[in-house]
Amino acid sequence: MRANSMNSTRRRLLGAGTALGGLATLGLAGCASTGGPSIGRVVVVGGGFGGTTAARYLKMWGGNVDVTLVERGASFVSCPISNLVIGGYRQMADITRGYDGLKSMGIKVVQGEVTTIDVAGRKVRLAGGSELPYDRLIVSPGIDFMWDQVGGLQSAVDAGRVVHAWKAGPQTVAFRQQLDSMADGGVVAISIPKSPYRCPPGPYERACMVASYLKTAKPKSKLLVLDANPEVQSKKALFEKAFKDHYSGILEYRPNAEIKEVSGKVAKLEFEDVRADVLNVIPPQRAGDIARTAGLVNINSRWVGVNWLTMESTVAPGVHVLGDATFPAPQMPKSGHMANQHAKVAAAAIIQLLKGQPVNATPVVMNTCYSFVTARDVVHVASVHQYDATDKTFKTVPGSGGVSAAANQIEGRYALSWAQNIWDDMLEAV
Ligand SMILES: Cc1cc2nc3c(=O)[nH]c(=O)nc-3n(C[C@H](O)[C@H](O)[C@H](O)COP(=O)(O)OP(=O)(O)OC[C@H]3O[C@@H](n4cnc5c(N)ncnc54)[C@H](O)[C@@H]3O)c2cc1C
Repeated sequence: MRANSMNSTRRRLLGAGTALGGLATLGLAGCASTGGPSIGRVVVVGGGFGGTTAARYLKMWGGNVDVTLVERGASFVSCPISNLVIGGYRQMADITRGYDGLKSMGIKVVQGEVTTIDVAGRKVRLAGGSELPYDRLIVSPGIDFMWDQVGGLQSAVDAGRVVHAWKAGPQTVAFRQQLDSMADGGVVAISIPKSPYRCPPGPYERACMVASYLKTAKPKSKLLVLDANPEVQSKKALFEKAFKDHYSGILEYRPNAEIKEVSGKVAKLEFEDVRADVLNVIPPQRAGDIARTAGLVNINSRWVGVNWLTMESTVAPGVHVLGDATFPAPQMPKSGHMANQHAKVAAAAIIQLLKGQPVNATPVVMNTCYSFVTARDVVHVASVHQYDATDKTFKTVPGSGGVSAAANQIEGRYALSWAQNIWDDMLEAV
């Protein structure tokens, strides 16, 4: 799936510049790499959608910023497109990329676990005991799970009886293998937590991909979608139509079906027990652990409040937090695309702050989330968010967003191109 030719790479980068939000959006047009002595040290925690984009754009826009990225994993594995791996339509290699591109841009990439953030001392400590000093810190740790909200879930996942597959990697593989091994006539259940969670349309795309696989490979099987929410949380009419048109008789959607406990392969809901051969429980979520241990979590005991002009934490000076870990502005989704946009706002602001210059006062960010409803047909939701100086938050621009009129194959091609573009926008050497 990865295109290698120089021309296609260049084309994709140009696409990324427009589709994913370019320099001009952030008021940095013409600001290129300048060389010269370092203007400051930035450490980035987390090599996912937000962290990689921030590291790369600090280098591209600042040039002489000293950037170190710390990531616990050896390579980047994308959650977007991972539902296609679960459905059997893509392989893990298609959603896995290395960090060599960033290294060749002069970014120091350290594989390790950040365990402590010393806000007053402006340094982070790694699991091995080494320390990295910084002038500005970026934290984009994604989400971690609120295991205590569902009794027995953590031990069931640890034992391999239940999968979450809400962080792409071994869990994605495990879910796929369980579907593969299930006999025709088996029952699969997907449990969706109450909003907010990462990727609002993601569980419904997953339901479509699992149902699509069952329809072709194991047609006597059933998929139960147990949603803790009262209704489908994103692209509702489009998903409901896909459920009805393509998967009736296979997929059963149950709203207000919150899981309370897992016992063996039984999902215990408030009024009934649901037995499944393959049980996928997407746990309730909060900001990644390091945000919590560092004292950055200050909203609803789950999320990090930020100043939207700089992405700087509202409690920890010099610490900028991106992506899923943040308490979102109104109608701002927790998505890879949005984490990529947060990263550009933060990179631009940090360069200005290191130079002692004012930050852009009018940032605009945008989001598009594509969802596969069959192996080829896709639907999208898009939104544009503009900073509002009075309320100090991003607000959606009236009339700027929307959803597909209907699922279609052209957007299937756009969705795959979107993924290639954003992975390049995060990881490709410039
Ligand atoms: C099934 C699924 C489908 C999705 N589809 C889409 C889609 O189509 N489009 C879209 O825009 N979004 C999609 N998303 C959402 C998207 O994946 C997330 O919103 C995005 O990953 C958030 O980026 P982030 O930088 O906040 O976190 P992440 O991308 O999760 O990155 C966090 C990184 O930080 C690392 N890390 C955490 N703590 C530490 C530490 N202490 N030390 C070192 N490293 C650390 C982690 O290993 C991880 O690599 C999907 C999500 C799922 C689960």
